[in-house]
Amino acid sequence: MHIETRAIHTARKPDPITGAVAPTLVMSTTFARDENYAVPGEHIYGRTSNPNRRALEEVYATLEGGAAAIAYASGQAASNALFQCMNPGEHVVLPREIYFGTRALFDTHFLRMGIEMTPVGGANLAELRAALRPNTKLVWVETPSNPLLQITDIAAAARAAHEIGAACVVDNTWATPFCQQPLALGADVVLHSTTKYFGGHSDVTGGALVFRQDDALYARARSVQGLGGAVPSPFDCWLIQRSIPSMAYRLRAHTEHAAKVAEFLAEHPAVSAVHYPGLASHPQHAIAREQMRAFGGMLSFETTGGREAALRTAGRVQLFKRATSLGGYESLIEHRASVEGPASTAPAGLLRCSIGLEHPDDLIADLKEALES
Ligand SMILES: *Cc1c(COP(=O)(O)O)cnc(C)c1O
Repeated sequence: MHIETRAIHTARKPDPITGAVAPTLVMSTTFARDENYAVPGEHIYGRTSNPNRRALEEVYATLEGGAAAIAYASGQAASNALFQCMNPGEHVVLPREIYFGTRALFDTHFLRMGIEMTPVGGANLAELRAALRPNTKLVWVETPSNPLLQITDIAAAARAAHEIGAACVVDNTWATPFCQQPLALGADVVLHSTTKYFGGHSDVTGGALVFRQDDALYARARSVQGLGGAVPSPFDCWLIQRSIPSMAYRLRAHTEHAAKVAEFLAEHPAVSAVHYPGLASHPQHAIAREQMRAFGGMLSFETTGGREAALRTAGRVQLFKRATSLGGYESLIEHRASVEGPASTAPAGLLRCSIGLEHPDDLIADLKEALES
């Protein structure tokens, strides 16, 4: 069955008692046993499982083509859980250009646990291979990367990880399973901030890990969650599940609009660079074409006037909201260096855009006005 159909029909059987077609929200934290003290359904206690969470996990797993998935209260909680599966003395490889929260989480809380780390240029496979050690357990890939949209060859990174017995995790937040399927390319785990395109409406925070196999790493991550208690609320799960049936069509529009905006920006004299994997001029366009079904709704660009011009442009747009995050129906623009602070490696003149579902001609007119006035 195609992904669009699975997004609509997975874990959405009508309620057996009421016939309700929309999923029922189950807020109960505890589930009754029968007179023989047997558990009639699959749920006992809300921390360990809940019907809305279980349904959402089934959808996450099917969309990424995984054997199992775990839903979290945020993307960071998912990353935290994966790092918690490591032992002291083990080693991870992280891309230098990574979501800055992932790096901050690792540096602040896992280096002090005695887990070792080497940062590498994600798109540079030779550098990645050189960083591998006998104790490497996790190779982290984020593609397209934030904020320069560099593309890492997922199949090659996974092969390199497997040669030394490490797992390869791909943060697939920006691409989503509708644009890229890392597990089919050989990755072992997919990570999502479902706050972004899965939620799609900028009104719910969530995260996910999807595992290619029901293996020891999955069992450990499941145990970390069951005992550690990092669970999303039933209502948050319900909200995210509500957004998923429209997701394939949102991603098509995000991609189509982003391509148009990228082409406009690439021709504009006040723009010195456009970072979008769908442009033929993108340095890893060939890999992107091979491993992505569509190029997604995120892009960034640099202004010829540097930091001042970038801030001026961001200050003048009318439709784009000046806000962090991505993946909602509304377009967002962000001066990444300001958001990330002094440790930021983002170019000073760079603006990152989450291209929304407005008519692309209106978005282009808004940017044109802001760049030229
Ligand atoms: C937002 C984001 C995260 C973190 O997710 P939260 O839901 O904010 O905790 C991780 N990775 C990427 C690529 C992101 O964009």
